[in-house]
Amino acid sequence: AARPVATVPDPSDRLLGGLLSPDFDERSCLSRYGVAGYRRPSMHPLSSHLVSALRRYESLHRLCGPGTPAYARAVQRLRAPTTNGSDPSSEECSYLVWTPTAGLGNQILSLTSAFLYAVLTDRTLLLHRAGDDVFCEPFPGSTWLLPTSNNDDDTTFPIRDIKRLTIGAPESLGSVLGSSSAQQQPWMYVHLRHDYKAHDRLFFCDDVQAGLLRRVPWLVTMADNYFAPGLFLVPRFEAQLARMFPRRDAVFHHLGRYLFHPSNTVWGMVTRYHGSYFAQAHERVGVQVRMFKWAPISVDELYAQILSCVHRENILPVPGISSNKQANTTTRSSRKRTWRKGKAVVFASLYSDFSDRLRDLYDKEEEVVSVFQPSHLGAQHFGDRAQNQKAFAEMTLLSFADVAVTTAASTFGYVSQGLAGRRPWVLARPDHGKAPPPGSACRMAPTIEPCFHSPPNYDCRANARGDSGKTVRYIRHCDDFPQGVQLV
Ligand code: GDP
Repeated sequence: AARPVATVPDPSDRLLGGLLSPDFDERSCLSRYGVAGYRRPSMHPLSSHLVSALRRYESLHRLCGPGTPAYARAVQRLRAPTTNGSDPSSEECSYLVWTPTAGLGNQILSLTSAFLYAVLTDRTLLLHRAGDDVFCEPFPGSTWLLPTSNNDDDTTFPIRDIKRLTIGAPESLGSVLGSSSAQQQPWMYVHLRHDYKAHDRLFFCDDVQAGLLRRVPWLVTMADNYFAPGLFLVPRFEAQLARMFPRRDAVFHHLGRYLFHPSNTVWGMVTRYHGSYFAQAHERVGVQVRMFKWAPISVDELYAQILSCVHRENILPVPGISSNKQANTTTRSSRKRTWRKGKAVVFASLYSDFSDRLRDLYDKEEEVVSVFQPSHLGAQHFGDRAQNQKAFAEMTLLSFADVAVTTAASTFGYVSQGLAGRRPWVLARPDHGKAPPPGSACRMAPTIEPCFHSPPNYDCRANARGDSGKTVRYIRHCDDFPQGVQLV
């Protein structure tokens, strides 16, 4: 039965309408069942097929995950592959090992895509990532961290130097497909980073999925992209995906809320920020500002763009117009445009310039608009634990906002909009160093789905270049990043 859609957080909805398993110890991960008290309930229907697919995956992970006899046997076979022609596809458990690359937003999106692939192919997903106290474990009664140890005993994962694996590695799908002798492998590397080449892109072809890849018990992958839309291009996954996602525009929304729960350390930061910035406000505004090297723009130009966006779209009042007067007049004339007292604006940015200027702007009207910024780290350091914790705390906090403004093509923004399940206002990309004209400073995102920035653009049937945005009805080019594609 359809649940009534609540517009305020509902702390009693601990399992997010059945998305989450009830089988966890609450204290080990306070955010998992606690987030319902902070974030608004989802407006996107959750299919019973997705719920049962998740429960089925959890059983599989319990059976095949690290520490189980099945896992020990699979590692054994990886150490000493049988060469006498036994069919490895009959093995009880097969695996997908995900390795991190790029920033945390990119990682969250690529990991979500890897998880979807694991669910579709009955593989157990393992992370070659240190437990760095950013996320909780997502699967009950097991771990998703690949055990690595320096003692070379029988249960140590035998693929050494995973980090050396990159485009063109001899063990990669691309190299194997490119060579004349595509022989059976005990493991294979799948390179899905933005720099991938034609042969790597065949990952998204039905025959490669049905043949070569299905027979490999261990896959190792590296991706810096939200490649989930690419899985919707593979005919053999179509029926299963259609059942799990009858509406295809909330794939990351559901899977992201299922997988990513802030660790207790990160949740401490989130709830502290929320208490200091958001809790008292009548309206919560999140603004996420990125400056990309590939899309340069000056601080002045970008600040002006942010201002034209928030004023034009009535996200923040134009200062100087007395708040009381404005509130009184607008309340009567149009409910929608009411400026209630107490808007809290939280900025996520590496730099403090924008929030400092905005705070100055509302200096005399602080009771109307108050401006905060939890951190301003100045520069980005990949793989830094404290930085990842701060970044995830801010993505989570932004997902509690009533209204959000994000930066085009930023995966940091995609994660927060996806977790929120609400379409943000997206600051348009600069054009040759200039902000777009004030009238088009920002646009409401057409969907909450992230953009897949480097789609395969390969026509598997014709064996030639293709356009991934024109292959199926529900995948089209992204508004914020036209080379990319997204589910709609
Ligand atoms: P993208 O580059 O915008 O697609 O986002 P990513 O998350 O993949 O990479 C940017 C990285 O820079 C983040 O993971 C953070 O480590 C850091 N970063 C960028 N913007 C912010 C911000 O607003 N707040 C914090 N705490 N970190 C940020």
